[in-house]
Amino acid sequence: MPAFRKVVIFGVGLIGGSFARALAQAKAVEPGGLVGFSRSATYRKKREVLQRIVDRTGTQENISTELDGADLILLSVPVGQTGEILKLIKSHLGRNTIITDAGSTKSDVVAVARAILGDRSAQFVPGHPIAGAELSGPEAASADLYQSKKVVLTPLPENSPEAVARVRKAWELCGAAVSEMTPQQHDEVFAAVSHLPHLLSFALVHDIAQRDNREQLLSFAASGFRDFTRIAASSPEMWRDICMSNREALMSELQQYAAELYVLHQALGNQDAAKLEEIFSLARKTRSAWTQQ
Ligand code: NAP
Repeated sequence: MPAFRKVVIFGVGLIGGSFARALAQAKAVEPGGLVGFSRSATYRKKREVLQRIVDRTGTQENISTELDGADLILLSVPVGQTGEILKLIKSHLGRNTIITDAGSTKSDVVAVARAILGDRSAQFVPGHPIAGAELSGPEAASADLYQSKKVVLTPLPENSPEAVARVRKAWELCGAAVSEMTPQQHDEVFAAVSHLPHLLSFALVHDIAQRDNREQLLSFAASGFRDFTRIAASSPEMWRDICMSNREALMSELQQYAAELYVLHQALGNQDAAKLEEIFSLARKTRSAWTQQ
């Protein structure tokens, strides 16, 4: 017996499309029970791609029918869109439907969900898959994206154990290992190890892009530049929303990073080779240990 009768996904891009593909591969949803909503599903080419990922694409006109009897709704849109979608679905939400999301920030999303859902916020179990890529859109969706990857849930005190278990089950069927933390812990952790690196990568490429000799610089850029800037190919809309949504934690990380840059600047100014080597050695040791985990 499939675990779910009906799963509805808002935002069938890399994350939502991969969720659909993984659930389909695991035969976790009853035939015909995978429904996707996408902003540009009205375009023929987009519709054709979506038809290969979900059983049906929903529209605002048939939203009530499509949400009827849904076990699970996943919001996998840029985090700034979360409120709009929750407003759209609230009045069509059945008592047994659980909503989760895939947003890269959590405190902001939780605040929006509580403000919009009110006493039905118990039906919202926030989440974040720690898997992805600089690619976006349904074309990039893959059934294996979540295999052996982590997913963080940040359950709310008002969530029932059954609601959390349902969301956990869905991600486990996608091949992921699920852990839990609070929304605030989540945002602090990911500001440091995800949001800051993206900001730095965008900043470096932006700086180069504005220089008069950018063509010459880029013509000599090699693997170091490629590795450092891979994530600057990520979706600007998505990263705009993530940075705005987690700006407090991100500003604190930026400040700490600026202090680290200042130490490096001082070491160079003072011709302090020993200091540079000390910093580089600890960084290399830490990274090597991390890659072997
Ligand atoms: P994506 O590939 O750009 O997909 C987002 C999808 O949302 C697009 O297909 C877009 O449709 C759709 N969409 C946007 N606004 C919508 C709306 N109002 N109604 C219905 N659909 C809408 O982005 P993604 O990488 O899957 O990211 C989705 C979410 O996952 C974001 O919140 C992000 O923070 C989070 N996340 C991303 C990663 C990653 O590495 N990419 C990892 C973990 C979590 P159109 O194409 O038609 O505009």
